[in-house]
Amino acid sequence: MIILLLCVALLCPTVYSSDTTVEWCYHEPTCDFTTWPKNVHDYCSGTKQSPINIVTSKVKANSKLTPFTFTGFDDDSTLLSIGNTGDSVIVTLDGDKMKVEGGDLPSAYTSVQFHLHWGKGSSVKGSEHTVDGKGYPMELHIVNVHSKYNGSAKAAIDAHDPNGLAVLSFFVEGSNGTSKSKGWEILTSFLPNITNSGVTTTDIMNTTTMNSLLEGVNRTKYYRYQGSLTTPRCNEIVTWTVFKDTIKVNHDMVSQRKSIERDSALQHNSTIQRHKHKNGL
Ligand SMILES: [Zn+2]
Repeated sequence: MIILLLCVALLCPTVYSSDTTVEWCYHEPTCDFTTWPKNVHDYCSGTKQSPINIVTSKVKANSKLTPFTFTGFDDDSTLLSIGNTGDSVIVTLDGDKMKVEGGDLPSAYTSVQFHLHWGKGSSVKGSEHTVDGKGYPMELHIVNVHSKYNGSAKAAIDAHDPNGLAVLSFFVEGSNGTSKSKGWEILTSFLPNITNSGVTTTDIMNTTTMNSLLEGVNRTKYYRYQGSLTTPRCNEIVTWTVFKDTIKVNHDMVSQRKSIERDSALQHNSTIQRHKHKNGL
């Protein structure tokens, strides 16, 4: 079993006290990700900003990074709805039934949602994180909230708690293999129903499980670092776990999500932090 710790050269995080809500943007000439550190000073100009490029030659082993315990990941009643936020496909999870613990997390964490980041087509990277500069077509993030916040990510953000959120990140790539992932087949079958921003359906309930979507991934091999939300206000409250193994889905499925692709803001996320982290790790 190889468990890895990503050693990040971190400076002391800057602390700000302003609670001003800031609108953020992607596409306007005077307001896009390059201006976030200036426009959203709290906290996009911080020192623990995500995502990052993982430099494997600088990764250090850490025996504290034990296997996780996943609760409710095999239960098909825990995926409550699937929706199009305009920027992403988001699946809400039943936090009363799902949790993640172990893996050197300081607490049990309530699983509240997962969402996808993608690029254009299966050959163009859409992942936020990269490994030795390599990106992947998609990245799936499972968002988990420290148990003391009762499943409220907002409460964790408002508390400025560096342990407030734990995000599990999985790279997704297309495969030529004939075997199709049943879970992804089901998930992508809902995309034509949510082509418009703001549309949500609960039809996904009782159709598939979280484990089915993570099939084939060795969940004992992962990278760990302390980071932030990847969009403003970029709060530095996230314990990131980036799994080494990729989720492999049929090429067709990676392309299917085009059916809801607008000028997805998420496509830009993959370049944001390369800009912010010119020095890498
Ligand atoms: Zn995300």
